[in-house]
Amino acid sequence: MSPAGMIAVVGSINVDLSAQVARHPRPGETLHGRGGRMTPGGKGANQAVAAAKLGGSVQMIGAIGTDAQAEVGLSGLRAAGVGLDGVREVEGPTGLAIVTVAEDGENTIVVIGGANDAVDAAQVKASREVLEGAAIVVCQGEIPRGGIEALPAHVQGRFLHNPAPVMELDPAVLRASDPLVVNEHEAALVLAQLSPETDPTQQPEQIASALRDAGIASVVLTLGAQGSLVADADGSHRIPAAPVTAVDTTGAGDAFIGALAVGLAGGQSLPVAARFASQVGAFAATGHGAQPSYPGTDDELPQLDG
Ligand code: ATP
Repeated sequence: MSPAGMIAVVGSINVDLSAQVARHPRPGETLHGRGGRMTPGGKGANQAVAAAKLGGSVQMIGAIGTDAQAEVGLSGLRAAGVGLDGVREVEGPTGLAIVTVAEDGENTIVVIGGANDAVDAAQVKASREVLEGAAIVVCQGEIPRGGIEALPAHVQGRFLHNPAPVMELDPAVLRASDPLVVNEHEAALVLAQLSPETDPTQQPEQIASALRDAGIASVVLTLGAQGSLVADADGSHRIPAAPVTAVDTTGAGDAFIGALAVGLAGGQSLPVAARFASQVGAFAATGHGAQPSYPGTDDELPQLDG
């Protein structure tokens, strides 16, 4: 088998400030919580760490601030062995995410961009050598639109695009996704941009097929504890979830994407890589926080429900 290709992750590096609460506060309400620890996060860094912990060769392209939090933001990336030459320091705060986790494992997140707002088209262009050498380029929606829209011109492998949070993007950039990885909420927002006449409340199969009809070569729709759905030129496949007791689903989606990138970089087909990703996403849901809950190569992954 040929060696796995390099994975370049272009995205956010944040610090997560987490609080555990019995239930989420209503608007205007104050509740007592527990926690208050600062841990490394950001969708970009989470996905890079997940991929590197699973044995992927990963380069990060992003930005951190000049504050004390920057080292916290980088700590997980450093420990996982992610290449940091593409991470620059910009004057001001590091990105911050305020995470509230309720007893049922559901979370709410407020993200403050900070240094991530500097990951623009110029930085992407400056990183083109790394991007062009990557088997998989991964990106999310926590960097500026200009940075994301500059990417496809430098992707020579696959563009694993996770537009979360969803922003208005050039339709050509959405169509360059292969795969587009979205949850149901994000899928509806992407469809509203590409195919506004489509009813976004349909079954996952119809939503994925509408996204393909809109010009996206492959789609992975993540469905939380219901698993996921993969649709590409070979058809559509339901990927089961692994039955686990979720304690905190923060970053489970990012673990799924990091694993998906490792599978694809190793030459797996999309459905096979998605099965591996489903095991990894479930593993991440059983631990607290994002990066600290990700498995390494020695961890035993839960088996899928089918
Ligand atoms: P995030 O909260 O990280 O943004 P997301 O909405 O992007 O998550 P999810 O669909 O919640 O993504 O999770 C991604 C994948 O992780 C799922 O498709 C599934 O395979 C796995 N997963 C998530 N939650 C669970 C769970 N409770 N039990 C089993 N597997 C899970």
